[in-house]
Amino acid sequence: MSDRAIELFIRMHLEKTPRVMDRQRGRQNLTGDVIIAAMGAVQHQRPVGSDLIMARWLDDTSAALRVEKWLEKEAVQYEVIRTDLLIHLVPVALLIFLGKPTDDQIRKLSSLWRKSSERGRRSRRLMKQYLSHIESLEREKFRYEVSPSRETVINDEIDRYTLLIENEKQRINDWATTQARKSYQCPNCHGAGATSKSVVCPECGGSGKFVPSADNARKHLNANGVNIPERVWNRQIKPVFDEILSRLHQEHDETARLLGQRLNEEKSACL
Ligand SMILES: [Zn+2]
Repeated sequence: MSDRAIELFIRMHLEKTPRVMDRQRGRQNLTGDVIIAAMGAVQHQRPVGSDLIMARWLDDTSAALRVEKWLEKEAVQYEVIRTDLLIHLVPVALLIFLGKPTDDQIRKLSSLWRKSSERGRRSRRLMKQYLSHIESLEREKFRYEVSPSRETVINDEIDRYTLLIENEKQRINDWATTQARKSYQCPNCHGAGATSKSVVCPECGGSGKFVPSADNARKHLNANGVNIPERVWNRQIKPVFDEILSRLHQEHDETARLLGQRLNEEKSACL
């Protein structure tokens, strides 16, 4: 765990945990060593929950893989007729738990990144400039009598700007898709639910995020070649999906509570 990861972890998680102890007493700042020691102790007691914390807040892929293996064993215990479908639920439930969007949401999120971000605006300005160069070159070509050699130069320039536009389109699309895959947080208000221009963000309706529903999970599976008929999904698979997701949250929250408690003990130990 790097120092940056520890800082991120404290900021994103523990700072939100209400503190029982008096702020004036005990250690004011938890050092990285103390956090790692507390994490190690909690890891021993709740390995799955600790992996969930590390996977969710620190993007620890090895921890996510361990949870996936554990979930695969857990999932086969559910009694449904279509047991073959259970194995497909594990990765998508974990994906949603980790705060990542489903494949069917990527398109919408990526379009919002292009529309709302500074990078997207810069890209639009750039493409507009290229286009205006092309238009002016075309005007020159058709309005005036240009020599064949000048026409060749103009055509080459038009081709060059056209290629620049295509390359920029590709670059912005790749960037927006990469951004979209990272989180289902709203790209317009960055999770705040409001912007400087409006009290309620018009894109997410004020929620700050696009949390995937069970229906998104089904669409995600469909997009990945796992077609589940609606009736089977509603009757057999969705209840299991909901249960897996709620189990992940329970494990995570209980472990976070334990970790918070240990860190509070560490702080009050140094009076
Ligand atoms: Zn928003």
